[in-house]
Amino acid sequence: MAEVWAYIDETGDRGMSAASSPIFGMAAVIVDRRGAAELQAAVERLRGDFKVPAGKVMSWKEHVKTHDRRRHAARVLATVQGMKVCYVYAIKTALTRATYTQDRALFYNYVAMKTYTSVLWAARSWKGERTRLWTRFGHVRHHDHKPTEAYLRREASRSAKIPDHLEQGLRWVPANKYAESQAADLFGGFLKAALWPSGEFSLTEPAYLLSVWSKIRNSEDCAVPLGIMSMPDSSLVTRESWFPCTTCTKT
Ligand SMILES: [Zn+2]
Repeated sequence: MAEVWAYIDETGDRGMSAASSPIFGMAAVIVDRRGAAELQAAVERLRGDFKVPAGKVMSWKEHVKTHDRRRHAARVLATVQGMKVCYVYAIKTALTRATYTQDRALFYNYVAMKTYTSVLWAARSWKGERTRLWTRFGHVRHHDHKPTEAYLRREASRSAKIPDHLEQGLRWVPANKYAESQAADLFGGFLKAALWPSGEFSLTEPAYLLSVWSKIRNSEDCAVPLGIMSMPDSSLVTRESWFPCTTCTKT
C-alpha cells in the first residue's frame, strides 16, 4: 500500500497592518518513501553547504539570505524525485473584510484548510484511493493548533469531495523534528521571493520558484489551482509577469 508524508510550513504573517507581509501562504511538500530519503539527503547537503550548526534548524530567514544560496537551494531541491509541492496563498490587499482578514485564527484556519485539501487531493491523485498519508503542519508560535485541528477534521469529514480517509496522523510538529519541515520552509521562501518585493529596489525574484516549478503538483499540465492556488481569486497568480504556463486556460 502506498505511503506518503506531507510537511507544511507557512510563509508571511497573518497580520493586516502596514508592517505585516503582503501575502500569507503555505507550502506543502509531499513525499513518498523514495522522496523522503532524497529530500532528507538534500536537506543534509544544504545544511552542510550553508554551515548550519548541528542541532539548529535551517531556515530561509537565517541561513538562506543571499541570491547565491537561494539559487543553490532551489537547484538542489529541484533534483529530488518522488516529491510534489502544493502552494496556497492569499494576497491581503485583494481580500475583503468578509474573507476572514479581521480574525487571525480564522484566517490561518482558512488557508490551512485550503492547503490540507490540496494535500489530500494530491496524495490521492498521485498514489490512489488506498494511500496512507501522514500530514505534519509546522507548529506556529502564539497559535493554538487544537481548534485548527478540530476545524480541519470537521471540514474534511463534511465534504464528500475531500478524501480524508487517507489521513493516518494529522499533527502539528516543531520545526526541529523532521528534516522535511526545513525543506517546506525553503519552498515557502521561494514563493515569498516571487511575490513579496524586498531589498534596496523593492524587487521580487521569481527565479527560485521557477527553478522548482516542475515539482509543483500538476505543473506538467497546469499547476493552477491544484498545485498553486492564489486567493481570493485563483487567477491572481496567472497575472504575475513571471507566470510560466503560457498555454494556461485558467487566466
Ligand atoms: Zn495553466
